[in-house]
Amino acid sequence: MAVRLSSPVTVTLPSLRRSPSAAATFIAANLTLIRSSSSMADPTTTDYRHRVVVCGGGVIGVCTAYFLSKKGAAVTLVEQSSVACAASGKAGGFLALDWCDGGPLSNLARASFNLHRSLAEELDGPRSYGYRPLGALSVTVRESPEQNSGPSSSVGLEVPSWIDGLGRNFRTIGTTRTTAQVHPRLFTTTLMTAAVEKYGVELVFGKAERVDVGEGGRVGSVVLEDERVIEADSVVLALGPWSSKMAILSSMFRVYGLKAHSIVLEPKEPDAITAHALFLSYYPAHGGKPMDPEVYPRPTGEVYICGSTAEEEVPSRPEQVASNPESIQMLKRVAGNVSSLLAEGEARVTAEQACFLPCTDDGIPIIGEIPGVKGCFVGTGHSCWGILNGPATGAALSELILDGREQVVDLSSFTPARFVAARKG
Ligand SMILES: Cc1cc2nc3c(=O)[nH]c(=O)nc-3n(C[C@H](O)[C@H](O)[C@H](O)COP(=O)(O)OP(=O)(O)OC[C@H]3O[C@@H](n4cnc5c(N)ncnc54)[C@H](O)[C@@H]3O)c2cc1C
Repeated sequence: MAVRLSSPVTVTLPSLRRSPSAAATFIAANLTLIRSSSSMADPTTTDYRHRVVVCGGGVIGVCTAYFLSKKGAAVTLVEQSSVACAASGKAGGFLALDWCDGGPLSNLARASFNLHRSLAEELDGPRSYGYRPLGALSVTVRESPEQNSGPSSSVGLEVPSWIDGLGRNFRTIGTTRTTAQVHPRLFTTTLMTAAVEKYGVELVFGKAERVDVGEGGRVGSVVLEDERVIEADSVVLALGPWSSKMAILSSMFRVYGLKAHSIVLEPKEPDAITAHALFLSYYPAHGGKPMDPEVYPRPTGEVYICGSTAEEEVPSRPEQVASNPESIQMLKRVAGNVSSLLAEGEARVTAEQACFLPCTDDGIPIIGEIPGVKGCFVGTGHSCWGILNGPATGAALSELILDGREQVVDLSSFTPARFVAARKG
């Protein structure tokens, strides 16, 4: 069966700094229909399956739907536009085992890095979504010739020959044991396709408008903008930077968006480009603001480059997110100054895009049950590590929802209840 991952509706289509411390086209029309039989299921029968409605088809919602359905839940995923249409389709896809060590994300990141490895085995990740271990280098790039003079401090390190531009002071910050990558859109759509085909997840296109709470303060259903109602025993809200547009969440905490730009290049000589992610400290000429762009060669032969971020109002729909020509131009300049193989004329630009990182006020993701609404869960605020942390977030939420307790990683640091406690304090 082919799985259609986008809506049938026609649509016009501070810093991202990280540092160490087939999809199928298609469906059978029935996938767009809302499950009707399950909403009348009798919870007292032995074959009753817990009904979960997951809202949001980004990496967090899709990973959650995948693990929930694999554990036997009857899952409906509601997406307003298309699967991986936002940051989850436009991210770098870089994964690191230990770069979050020493902070609240440490255990989540370590568990998720390992889950990525096992998912890649389960779903043929190297072939289906470009999973591969890769090295990572930090590099200083100064555009002004006078700033760029003097010896480079990359002693003892063999710099890959394609990085033949203004780069200096190379340092190894990740090896194939500790760093890896996926193509984020293909990762998310591959998981979604597997969830639909292997575990019966239903994909519904529509905008989730509100969560209705029934007797005893327990969730009863999700109501869509067009008034369709999907009954649920549990609901997961994985709305990324749109989380604050849902009243049940915005009454408790703020999730804001940081806009980031990226480009994708197709170099004429892809085979000359080695599997090294580059983390740049970039100093533009004439005293321009320093930036921290990141460069990710992909096994597809493409090279992805993303740049600095700025807080901006998140438009109501993903298709309305427009890129700023100056930011795109800057990324092209970065490309040419890093490698002659990425300069204009040597590489074709295949994507110029922008999207939003979902950020929280305390910088920590929000994962867990919403206080006062039984059965209503949230997974959001993953900022620049959502692709890495999607699998452990989804696996832990599925355990919490179906078993009443998470095992893969302790979620207590991520609880939404911290915002209630902060208000009382
Ligand atoms: C430039 C850039 C590079 C990045 N690089 C990396 C990286 O290398 N490694 C890494 O780990 N992370 C990276 N990230 C971070 C990562 O992309 C995000 O943390 C992650 O994608 C967030 O996923 P999400 O599912 O929370 O949100 P999103 O991907 O934004 O998905 C939210 C989904 O919810 C849907 N939605 C919203 N409201 C509704 C509604 N009411 N009803 C139905 N559907 C709704 C949206 O349409 C969207 O599809 C990067 C991010 C950016 C911007």
